[in-house]
Amino acid sequence: MKLSTLLVHAAAEPQAHTGAVADSIVLSTTYQHAADGTRAPAGLEYQREAHPNGVALERALAAAEGGAEALCFASGMAAIAALMQALPEPGEVIIGTDVYQGTRTLALEFLQAKGFRVRAIAYSDTAAVVASINADTRLLWLETPSNPLLHVGDIAALASACHTHKALFVVDNTFATTALQRPLALGADVVMHSTTKYIGGHSDVMGGALVFARRDDWFERVLHFRHIHGAVMAPFNAWLTLRGLRTLAVRVERHAANALAVAEFLATCPALEQVNYPGLSSHPNHAVAARQMRAFGGMLSITFKRGREAALQVASALRLFTNATSLGGFESLVEHRASVEGPNPVTAQNLLRLSIGLEDPEDLIDDLRQALAQLSS
Ligand SMILES: *Cc1c(COP(=O)(O)O)cnc(C)c1O
Repeated sequence: MKLSTLLVHAAAEPQAHTGAVADSIVLSTTYQHAADGTRAPAGLEYQREAHPNGVALERALAAAEGGAEALCFASGMAAIAALMQALPEPGEVIIGTDVYQGTRTLALEFLQAKGFRVRAIAYSDTAAVVASINADTRLLWLETPSNPLLHVGDIAALASACHTHKALFVVDNTFATTALQRPLALGADVVMHSTTKYIGGHSDVMGGALVFARRDDWFERVLHFRHIHGAVMAPFNAWLTLRGLRTLAVRVERHAANALAVAEFLATCPALEQVNYPGLSSHPNHAVAARQMRAFGGMLSITFKRGREAALQVASALRLFTNATSLGGFESLVEHRASVEGPNPVTAQNLLRLSIGLEDPEDLIDDLRQALAQLSS
C-alpha cells in the first residue's frame, strides 16, 4: 500500500457500537476490570498507561514509519528525554553540531551529568562521522535535515556504521516527516518526531512520538519510563494529532513544492549570502538528500550579507510570514533564531529560518521580494 493510502486508513475503523466513521475522544482515566479482577477485554487499565486515542495514533504511526511499535508523549522533548533516560550503560553519545536546541541541552546537561560523554560532529561530512563511531559509542543522534542549517546526514551509511559498532541509531524525522523520509527502512533503530510540527500541522497541538524498528529491551525500558514518569499524550492531543496525520502526505507535498519555489527565488537575491535548502543543486548534501528523500521539505534558512540588522529588518517587513518560533503549520513563519537562543546563541546573527506554509507560492515570493526591496532603500 502506498503511503498516502496508509495514512488515511491506518487504525481507522468505524466505531463498533455506533457505526461512527470519525473517531471519538475517550476521556476516561480508568477502565472497568473483568469479573475475575483482571484487566477489561480491551486491555486498558488507566490513562497514564494507555488510552484508545493514544493507541490508535501509535498504531497509525508505527504503520506509517514501518516500525514494530510506537509510543506517544506529551511533547517532542518528553519523547527525547524518555529515550535518552533509557539508554543502557554509560559511554559516548554523538549528536550533530547543528541540532534542535532542546536536544543539545538535554544531552549536554543531563546525559553528561549521568556520566555519558557527549560529542558534537557536523553530519554534513558523512566520512568524518563514520570515522568517529567506535566501540564506546552508545548512541548516534541524527537530525536530518537539521535545524536550522538544513544539513543532511546519510541515513543508510550512518546506520551501517552504527550496526558495526553496536551503537543505537536514532533519526529525528521532524523536518522531513514520514511523508518524505522513512529512516527505519534505511536501518535506523528508532525514529523520533515532534508531532507538534508537521504531523499536527495546524500549530495547535503539542506532542512527541517514537517509532521503534523492533520490540526490544530499549522499547520496554522507554515504555516503563513513560508509565512511571507520566509525560503521556492526552486523549484530545492524540485525537488532533491523528487527524493531522491523515492529511500529512498532501500537506507536506505542497509545503515542499512551495519551499522549492521560494528557495529558487531566494537563490537569485543579491542581498543574501546563502540559501540553505537541500533541494537546491548548490546544497553540499543535495545528492544524499535526493537519494533518501521523496522531496526536500518545507524548511529553509537564509543568511544576509549585511548581518543581523538586515535579517531583523526583513523579518519585520514580511506581511504573510508571522515572526514566531515553531514550524510545520499551514501558515508561513519566520524566525531570527539567534534572538530566541538566549545569551549565548549557537546560530549566526545574520540567519533567518523560514517555515514555508500552504499559501500560494507566488504570494510568498511577492512578499519576500517586497521585504528584501526595503533593504536596498
Ligand atoms: C520542535 C522540535 C523538537 C522538540 O519538540 P517539542 O514538541 O517542541 O517538545 C525536537 N526536534 C526538532 C527537530 C524540533 O523541531
